[in-house]
Amino acid sequence: MEVVKRGFTRACKNHSYLCYETIDEILTPLCASHKVSKPASNEAIKAFVNDINDSIRDLGQSLVFIKYPLMGKEYLVYAKTDATPDSIANTGLTAEECQYFSKLLDKIATADDCRIPWNVAYNELFLQGLAKPPKKSRMQHLLQKWSQMGYFLDKDEYIYLGPRSLVELNFYLTSSYSEHIKSCTLCKGLVLWDIRCGSCQIQFHRDCIHTYLQKRDICPSCGSLWTTPLRRSSSASS
Ligand SMILES: [Zn+2]
Ligand SMILES: [Zn+2]
Repeated sequence: MEVVKRGFTRACKNHSYLCYETIDEILTPLCASHKVSKPASNEAIKAFVNDINDSIRDLGQSLVFIKYPLMGKEYLVYAKTDATPDSIANTGLTAEECQYFSKLLDKIATADDCRIPWNVAYNELFLQGLAKPPKKSRMQHLLQKWSQMGYFLDKDEYIYLGPRSLVELNFYLTSSYSEHIKSCTLCKGLVLWDIRCGSCQIQFHRDCIHTYLQKRDICPSCGSLWTTPLRRSSSASS
C-alpha cells in the first residue's frame, strides 16, 4: 500500500486539484498494478488520504478536501503548508511575473464577490510602473497555467479564486483581506460565493447551513429567523 500512497501523492501534486472521478482514474490502475484493494467509497478515500497526510505533514505538504461551490464539486487539493503568494509564484518566473500573481490575487480578493471581469486580468495597467512588465500574451499564458494549477478559475467571463488558493492561501487570504474574505463559522473553511443570511448578511456554506437548519430555523450568527431559500448545493451559484 505504501507504494500506492506514494504514487497517488505524486499524481495529486501533478494535478494540483482532483475531483472524485479523477481520483478514481488514478487509483484504479495504481491499485490494480500493485494488487491492493482500492478504497471503494468516498469515506474510504478520505481515510486513505488521512493516512497519506500523516506521512507528508513533515514535508510541509497536505491533501485537503474542499467543496468548491462555483463548480458544484468537491475537490482534493494538493497544498504546501504555510504558502504565500511569493512562495507559489517563484518557479521560473521573473520578479514582474511574480508580482503579476500577487496583484491578480489582490485584485480578486478585494473585488465584489471575489471575482474580476476576465479582460481586467490582462490589462497592462495592472503592472504599470514596473521596469519590464510581461506582455499580454505572456499574462494570458501565466493565467492559464495558474488556472490549471487551481489558483484561479476562468468562468463565465470572470476570473475567480480557484480551489487551490482557497486551501493553500487560506491563512494568507483571511489575514491580509479580513475585510473581504471570511470563514464559515460552522466549519471554519473560507466562504466566498455561497449563501447569506437575509438579516445580517453573514455568509455560510450552503451545505453547512443546510445541515444546521435541519435542527433549528434561525441564523447561527444573528439569531433571526432564516429566510434565504436553500438551493441544492450541486447547482453552481454565482
Ligand atoms: Zn462551512
Ligand atoms: Zn444572520
